[in-house]
Amino acid sequence: METYRLPDGSDGKHVEFTGKQIGSGSSHGGKGTLRWTEVRLFRTQAGKYVLQKVGRSVVAHAEEQSCTSGDPYFEDDGPEVNLSGYLPCPLCRPDFSQDALVLENDRFSVHVSDTAEGIVESAYSQDSDGVTYMTRVARQCLQRAGLQDDAIKRAFMTQKVD
Ligand SMILES: [Zn+2]
Repeated sequence: METYRLPDGSDGKHVEFTGKQIGSGSSHGGKGTLRWTEVRLFRTQAGKYVLQKVGRSVVAHAEEQSCTSGDPYFEDDGPEVNLSGYLPCPLCRPDFSQDALVLENDRFSVHVSDTAEGIVESAYSQDSDGVTYMTRVARQCLQRAGLQDDAIKRAFMTQKVD
């Protein structure tokens, strides 16, 4: 058992619990990956489930470029910010030593459920047309978790019909 403190949203909220990570998935495609998602599933000491979804980005843009517009998650950071790990946006191609940069932030969300069914439900996403689907990363995470948690395996493998 370990104590975790996971950020939830971008306003400083956190979810804290003692438990164990039972599954994970990632779409990181190796060196040079600009954006990817990670999903992790935990079981708490008391038997609840916690699902964390993280959208990672290491993209740095030059200031006032159209490729940065319309996205609420950009943050304008001062010169003291550590740029190691960041990669230049392939569209605006900033010069890290010359340009003022706009950095993309990671996005965090956390779901908590008392039941395996509830947490599997929260692993689904909705596209802009309202269609429900499960990402490959979430699927990978739940499949791995199912290897050591029978309730997750059953909930993941079972389609309930009303
Ligand atoms: Zn850019």
